[in-house]
Amino acid sequence: MLQQADGHGSGSDAHGGEALREDLQEFLGGEALLQQLDDLTKVNPVTLETVLRCLQARYMADTFYTNAGCTLVALNPFKPVPQLYSPELMREYHAASQPQTLKPHIFTVGEQTYRNVRSLIEPVNQSIVVSGESGAGKTWTSRCLMKFYAMVAASPTSWESHKVAERIEQRILNSNPIMEAFGNACTLRNNNSSRFGKFIQLQLNGAQQMTGAAVQTYLLEKTRVACQAPSERNFHIFYQIYKGARADERVQWRLPEGAAFSWLPHPERTLEEDCFEVTREAMLHLGIDAPTQNNIFQALAGLLHLGNTRFADSGNEAQPCPLVDGAQCSVGTSALLLGLPEYHLLETLRIRTIRAGRDQQVFRKPCSQAECDTRRDCLAKLVYARLFDWLVSVINSSICATPDSWTTFIGLLDVYGFESFPNNSLEQLCINYANEKLQQHFVAHYLRAQQEEYAVEGLTWSFVSYQDNQPCLDLIEGSPVSICSLLNEECRLNRPSSAAQLQTRIESALTGRPRLGRDRLSPEPSFIVLHYAGPVRYCTAGLVEKNKDPVPPELTRLLQQSQDPLLKVLFPADPEEKSQEEPSGQNRAPVLTVVSKFKASLEQLLQVLHGTTPHYIRCIKPNSQAQAQIFHREEVLSQLEACGLVETIHISAAGFPIRVSHRNFLERYKLLRRLRPATTPGPHGPCPAGGQSEWPPRAEPAMLRGLLQDILHALPAPLHCGRTKVFMTDSTLELLERRRAQV
Ligand code: ATP
Ligand code: MG
Repeated sequence: MLQQADGHGSGSDAHGGEALREDLQEFLGGEALLQQLDDLTKVNPVTLETVLRCLQARYMADTFYTNAGCTLVALNPFKPVPQLYSPELMREYHAASQPQTLKPHIFTVGEQTYRNVRSLIEPVNQSIVVSGESGAGKTWTSRCLMKFYAMVAASPTSWESHKVAERIEQRILNSNPIMEAFGNACTLRNNNSSRFGKFIQLQLNGAQQMTGAAVQTYLLEKTRVACQAPSERNFHIFYQIYKGARADERVQWRLPEGAAFSWLPHPERTLEEDCFEVTREAMLHLGIDAPTQNNIFQALAGLLHLGNTRFADSGNEAQPCPLVDGAQCSVGTSALLLGLPEYHLLETLRIRTIRAGRDQQVFRKPCSQAECDTRRDCLAKLVYARLFDWLVSVINSSICATPDSWTTFIGLLDVYGFESFPNNSLEQLCINYANEKLQQHFVAHYLRAQQEEYAVEGLTWSFVSYQDNQPCLDLIEGSPVSICSLLNEECRLNRPSSAAQLQTRIESALTGRPRLGRDRLSPEPSFIVLHYAGPVRYCTAGLVEKNKDPVPPELTRLLQQSQDPLLKVLFPADPEEKSQEEPSGQNRAPVLTVVSKFKASLEQLLQVLHGTTPHYIRCIKPNSQAQAQIFHREEVLSQLEACGLVETIHISAAGFPIRVSHRNFLERYKLLRRLRPATTPGPHGPCPAGGQSEWPPRAEPAMLRGLLQDILHALPAPLHCGRTKVFMTDSTLELLERRRAQV
């Protein structure tokens, strides 16, 4: 965009100026000019409107990647663009002497991180945080980056001597179809929506070859197994077995063609994700052999039959709920496929055992119809979640390098984006909490740290204000009182509490907190959190129960008695025989709630991220219809606002992302100084031959500046010397490295 001659006008002048600028832009090529702006820091002035126009112009010209200083903005093409991800292009970015001079691309970020691990002055683990809302392209991006590293960081073992599938890079790539089959589902917003968060650590040895990888997952949306929102589907794997099973498998798994399962909505929809063969192949390559696969799929079929088990009201509290017509067959088939005695399965679903009284007598109490349904769903969630975790551990044992065979890593984080629906519950609270944490990491790393460090180092810098989301995090997770602590307290007290009571407790305990709001028109008890990405209304109904995520002990005990080899692994018998009935109130163990487990895993993740140099890719969804060539300004605008992109650009435009201690800087580039003729020594005398450790001396800032002057004698590049560090841009670093290579 053109330079604005008149600064910030106001009133009618401003409109006049705007019109003039528009005219000039038209005259000079208008949108065509915008299309060529590879970096949003060059847009002038940087405003939401100008950034939006630039992205729109580029999108309509099929240019999907744009730099925004330290962040790469990735617009979802919503159409195949094979040439953009070809092996040739990967090689081009990898071979380029300055990849950042090529068109913006995820491969630039990929190559940059790879080089940083390899050759940065102070080598450090790298991470790439891929963020964006559901359907924006995070998983696609992560997958492409994994393919990129599989190519550029391939170990030199000859391709001839190893079958492709046996190679570690290929095994790592094969983890994707498995995790997506079991962890992704078709939702209203994305046909292949990840229902879990994922951090994959690509492990590199000293020669920067990929020797392995480790996967960590977060918060699988296990409720989907037993409950799918209207127009949404269950996890892909169920459709894969239902549609792709061979005739003999159909018989064995009791899945006749056309059979209806209530936990398998919309089987008529055809998705490319429904390909069973791809999953099977990938499993085989990761060491999950055919008999084990058979056990897995048989158990999943058992869950589908369990879903068809329906109870009627017994009309008498003392009587167990009868099954509805036809359900007896479902429960029998389910028991068979899960390796359980039918009567035992049915009894566990319908009868609760409680210990009570001084002598801890065991009582058997028939469950209500609703309780039976809850227990059935709970059983399915329990099996599926254990299966998923087990698969992740099998994948890890197949792809993880031994501790002595890797030294550094590149981490790829693909987590569910910010969510806001008309009704939000604990799942959204956790997801949005994670996004707040990541936003804070971003803010802390790039915005606050950058600005504060400049101030400490004495660099001249005009401060850019940024939105600090600490008050929001205090509201969600802070101590002593926060939303999380209140939810945990309710679980601990285990008292019956209605949705309205919970709302009142939250409001009264957190009243006056800056990020808490209330929707007075809402018909349901709820509270509002003003997230950095926008306000979200959370309904209090069911929050405590979801947080508790109770598993009746009888269900675990039932599964521990399964004769199925897979279930025996997933539910090993307790080493010591613990109390097997539900204990009464006083004897309860402290509750490990969903939010407390999630908080702990998030903190662990953040700790890992803090030990890396982070890179950011912001995926943007240009429209919600998943259509190519459609750019909905309003939708993109809210995503740009949500991630604070304009603030990021302001800071990046004037920032110096590379910072190195004086000593390390001089250690590395002292060679450049030696180029100076011996007759014109710098202010500190000539550099001693051999570069002994005495040189450079423990540099005083003034002295150092002199040395820097020497080094930068012929370097017309932006470089600033702070009190303890040297600050520079990526291009200055490139220039220095080129000069160094020439010496
Ligand atoms: P969620 O949070 O729901 O998991 P996500 O951000 O991971 O969403 P993806 O599954 O990566 O979203 O992308 C959604 C769909 O958009 C993909 O299935 C694919 O069809 C399309 N898509 C994304 N990125 C690209 C791309 N670079 N080129 C072509 N199509 C793409
Ligand atoms: Mg995804």
